[in-house]
Amino acid sequence: MTQSYDLVIAGGGPSGSAAAWQAAQTGARVVVLDKAEFPRDKPCGDGLTARAVSYLQKMGLAEEVGAFHRVNRVTVFSPTRWELSFPRRPGMPDHGHTVSRTELDALLLKHAESAGAEVRQSCEVVRPELDECGRVVGVVLKSGEKVLGDAVIAADGAYSPIKRALKIDSQYNGYSAIAIRSEMHADREDSDSLDIHLQLRFRGDQLPGYGWVFPMGGGRFNIGLGYVNSYKNWQSINATQFLGEFLHTLPAEWNLPPIEELKKNRSVRAWRLPMGFTAWPPWRPGVLFVGDCLGAGKPASGAGISKALESGLAAGECAIAALTNGGPDDFTNYAQRMEAAWGREYRRGRWFHKLLGYPPVANAGIRLIDNAAFRDRMLKALYKKAQGPQHTY
Ligand SMILES: Cc1cc2nc3c(=O)[nH]c(=O)nc-3n(C[C@H](O)[C@H](O)[C@H](O)COP(=O)(O)OP(=O)(O)OC[C@H]3O[C@@H](n4cnc5c(N)ncnc54)[C@H](O)[C@@H]3O)c2cc1C
Repeated sequence: MTQSYDLVIAGGGPSGSAAAWQAAQTGARVVVLDKAEFPRDKPCGDGLTARAVSYLQKMGLAEEVGAFHRVNRVTVFSPTRWELSFPRRPGMPDHGHTVSRTELDALLLKHAESAGAEVRQSCEVVRPELDECGRVVGVVLKSGEKVLGDAVIAADGAYSPIKRALKIDSQYNGYSAIAIRSEMHADREDSDSLDIHLQLRFRGDQLPGYGWVFPMGGGRFNIGLGYVNSYKNWQSINATQFLGEFLHTLPAEWNLPPIEELKKNRSVRAWRLPMGFTAWPPWRPGVLFVGDCLGAGKPASGAGISKALESGLAAGECAIAALTNGGPDDFTNYAQRMEAAWGREYRRGRWFHKLLGYPPVANAGIRLIDNAAFRDRMLKALYKKAQGPQHTY
């Protein structure tokens, strides 16, 4: 059996749902295929930045987002403790939220469906379908069924089978972080702060990465860490054991469960987090890459949900515009959008990641950040930049 659509979206995470929601508004025939049965979990820190909140608001989900646990500040331990507020940016919220991905992703997928997209769950995509010229014209499911479309959006995450089958290698060669997290109860008050621990050491080396403690509300906390693979010994790190060691550095009075117990209840999960555009240009004839499949995560922080939403919304809009006007052979409009929004910052981010992969540089970097005078200058510049002109999706 073969079905045909205007737009086939592989993956119903935040990037796929945002793309589907955006494209379905135009009346296009859109299908979202996801291998999971929702609600499903996704290893994540569950933190929504102010920018992520703003995209959810634009998608008409302000009320739902308002009910999530609210966070008003970031507390950094470098190891000196200091605080950051969310920058005030025109038209943007001055706060973030936390929410389990089980809840967020189910909400987004439902939202795409309400906008008119067809959603098919438990539908695993194994590869793209190509025409004789090598253009992507659909996908093939594990069942053997072909789902054809004028264009395909690959939103199938960090381990994208579509990208793998197309042998996409970025000329930019962005980076991946390995990130691991667990959710647990802590004997402490609920908090409105995203806590970031910058000092993360392995065999005496400062890692390019950080640990986090994010409040989920109701006494629950998402605790995890991530490090970038520009560090030469990253493969020697046992991420689970490393998370256990990080838990030991947190206040003993929180009575956090030992890592062995967390492992038993299966709440410890690691995942890859691609950053800095690992597929560029972000399209090939017939297909556009979004979210983790594109490596859209922000190099400075690894924040990926806002970038998944942003790239998804942009791809949904650009795909329909290109199909309406020129056809599926050229999605340069999408590349231009992504380049204008993040090109410069991501180029700088890739360069920084490379540099911070050298332990002497990372060691010097953390000492600088821990210096109050340097930090004040850096923060002033960052806040000034945040007040500057904003791009929309
Ligand atoms: C441990 C960890 C912590 C993180 N913490 C944060 C955080 O606090 N805040 C933040 O902003 N970002 C965070 N991120 C990044 C964020 O989780 C990702 O950037 C985001 O999930 C990307 O969304 P996506 O839709 O592109 O991909 P995903 O959320 O991975 O969704 C991909 C979807 O595709 C489906 N899929 C996969 N393969 C197939 C297939 N073959 N066929 C059909 N469907 C398929 C999956 O089932 C899934 O539903 C974190 C990442 C990690 C690993």
